[in-house]
Amino acid sequence: MTKFSLERVDTVALVTMDDGAGKGRPNVFGRAALASLAALLPELEEGDFSALVITGKAGSFSGGADLNEFPLIERREQAIEGSRAGHDLFGRIRALPYTTVAAINGAVLGGGVELALHCDYRVIADECRHFASPECLLGFVPAWGATQLAPRLVGTEAAVKLIVLNPMRQNKMLGAEQALELGFVDRVAEPERLVEEAIAIAGEQPAREDADLSEAADVIARARRQLDDSLHGAAPAPYRALDLIEGASGWSIEDGYRAEEEALADLLFTPQAQASLYAFDLVERRARKGAGRPDAKPRDVKKVGIAGAGLMATQLATLFLRRLGVPVVLRDLEQEIVDRALETIRDDLAGAAARGRLDPQKAVSLAALAKGTTSYEGFEDCDFVIEAIFEDLDVKKQLFAELEAVVPAECILATNTSALSVSAMAEGLERPERLVGMHFFNPVAMMPLVELVRTPETDDLSLATAWAVADKLRKRPVLVNDAPGFVVNRLLTRMMVVLLDAIERGNSVDETDEAILALGLPMAPSVLLQMVGQQVVDHVRATLHAAYPERFAISGDGPARSVDEIREAVLEALAEETQHMLEEGVVASAKDIDTALILGAGFPLFMGGLTKYLDQTGVSERVTGSMFAQAAAPA
Ligand code: NAD
Repeated sequence: MTKFSLERVDTVALVTMDDGAGKGRPNVFGRAALASLAALLPELEEGDFSALVITGKAGSFSGGADLNEFPLIERREQAIEGSRAGHDLFGRIRALPYTTVAAINGAVLGGGVELALHCDYRVIADECRHFASPECLLGFVPAWGATQLAPRLVGTEAAVKLIVLNPMRQNKMLGAEQALELGFVDRVAEPERLVEEAIAIAGEQPAREDADLSEAADVIARARRQLDDSLHGAAPAPYRALDLIEGASGWSIEDGYRAEEEALADLLFTPQAQASLYAFDLVERRARKGAGRPDAKPRDVKKVGIAGAGLMATQLATLFLRRLGVPVVLRDLEQEIVDRALETIRDDLAGAAARGRLDPQKAVSLAALAKGTTSYEGFEDCDFVIEAIFEDLDVKKQLFAELEAVVPAECILATNTSALSVSAMAEGLERPERLVGMHFFNPVAMMPLVELVRTPETDDLSLATAWAVADKLRKRPVLVNDAPGFVVNRLLTRMMVVLLDAIERGNSVDETDEAILALGLPMAPSVLLQMVGQQVVDHVRATLHAAYPERFAISGDGPARSVDEIREAVLEALAEETQHMLEEGVVASAKDIDTALILGAGFPLFMGGLTKYLDQTGVSERVTGSMFAQAAAPA
């Protein structure tokens, strides 16, 4: 548990928050942590201090409220109490009769940001990359003062960015410099000098006035339109946060606190908040733990081979270079394709350097590690080879046969196939146990999911190595069995089949897009189709049609449907397909399906992936006779 402790440094009260769990874990505020702060307050209020500096531990100022305690909140009054407890405590810090400064050592999220906002000044460690208020993403609103204090400090626009827009953009976070630019912090310092700087700033005491909030209504109206474009009203929390931020321009702080308390109590029990908390646990805890990961010690990967130099192969090469920092060799059929890929890789690395994401020197040295060939030269000492060539079983089998003749006996082989049978690819290999599916998603740098496909022959060492590689690439693997289309493509294709069927019956593309966008999904199906490319879609559809012709039909006919009917048909089809996948054992649990859709297809947290939403809306029961949560096996 996070403990607040107080020491005197000359005339300064230095309060340190530490949960004792070391650098990797964030300080979080549960009831006990708040009680430990409450216990210090009388001494702070009565003591003879010139300033207060609040700081955290190395790497974490605070991760905010303890989400593990949220399920304990069962009644509206409890939600109000929890919110008010923070307002009271942090409000007392704000009211201290001397200057208060937050010395932000590292990650500062949610309630941690709110504690910092109650101080007069903020100094942040230069290495901090996680300054964020993610509450809206979780289906509720900041309710320890951020919606009221942030606009007064930085203005409506920056407050909206932190509290509403960033969380809805895949939980975008501010780094130290951005937090400084936007005015959330007053100074950036080296971690070792943080407390010193905080004490110095307290001594300077520059005067501060509230930001001008006269334009609040316009800024909020614009943000509401932006939200409509991406969310289509599917989740209430961000809209409510906008109301609160707008309110800050007219309310007293106390009025604002009360409004936050009501908003939290209204939102916390909505299906969207409940689904978000479920989904957050899936992607942040369960997926990181790695359900199904074998114990075997992974093999070291010191050189990577990539077969293909097309769209996916090029992106994979850049990612491998950046995250593994080892030599990468690409092979394609024509020199021109190889050269173009190498140029793209160089440009991407240089682009990352230009955006400050990569040291410029490092960009040059990494680019020099990429080589290309039309033969298999350079593959003879690879530890790991992944293919991203044409989606054709015979072509891929031929490739693996050629590869086996070149690569070392211990080299792990992986395929990025979208839908083909990995087992069929392994047939005829001398060492089929070393082949594993690693299905990445486009755009590779952005999508966190990798579907790791284990065939009946894949051994633990190969799977463990692929898993370790995925970790290093900072992807979150979901283990799947070898079935056509795996998880994400199978469900997306089933959705597309229903939509294409509607179009063939006479519905417009706008209508089918509308049916899906109203769920709050991030991308219109027609845009997704274009992005993935008709060829890949046709291949996947053909593979799934061959496996399940009755559910993946190629055409239909009949009268046009309403948008609501289309959406209902999509949801029912997805429920049916999910049921089949669980029966076939494609994944171990419905939770894997939800995790895969959130991380690989951007399904929103407020839908809880897919199955939570199907359960909440009664579709699961109607289609399968029970809820997926009840059918779910392991945790
Ligand atoms: P692409 O057409 O852009 O690239 C394929 C490349 O493979 C071409 O440059 C081609 O010349 C080359 N090639 C063909 N046979 C080869 C061989 N024997 N040796 C070396 N190179 C060979 O295709 P892509 O979109 O990058 O897809 C590649 C693979 O990744 C496919 O299996 C696809 O299903 C899968 N995938 C694609 C996406 C996507 O969104 N495009 C996403 C995930 C997985």
